[in-house]
Amino acid sequence: MKFVCDAMLGKLAKYLRLLGFDASYARNKAALTDRLSQDPDRILLTRRSGSEFSSPTIHIRSELVREQLDEIKGLIKAGFNKDTALSRCVECNVSLAEVDKEEVESRVPEFVYHTYARFRLCPSCKRVYWEGSHAKGMGELIKEMLR
Ligand SMILES: [Zn+2]
Repeated sequence: MKFVCDAMLGKLAKYLRLLGFDASYARNKAALTDRLSQDPDRILLTRRSGSEFSSPTIHIRSELVREQLDEIKGLIKAGFNKDTALSRCVECNVSLAEVDKEEVESRVPEFVYHTYARFRLCPSCKRVYWEGSHAKGMGELIKEMLR
């Protein structure tokens, strides 16, 4: 299940990535047109009513990201896979690569290096992720979404 979020839903795209979904973000209409012509099966999430695209479209009503997630909770629940949750770069929407701890030693705070065993790297922006580096309360969010 893949999504594309329009310009007003950047925050929602990030949350969907945290949950493990491929959620592309289109900052303008040209980007959106481009994305959907490459990949017409992506589910378009938009706050605009009425869409000129033939892709499956969900009209999001709330301005608050937690309520937006609630609006698509059914889909999230259906597509969620615990193995891919927290496995995607929140900024780039690409899958993270496992890296050896030693490789990231100079790039993470010392206490983090000593506290955690597993590190992952975004191949695109080179940001390092570890258990606990994702937004606080993600575990709670996941539980809530699956309830
Ligand atoms: Zn990245």
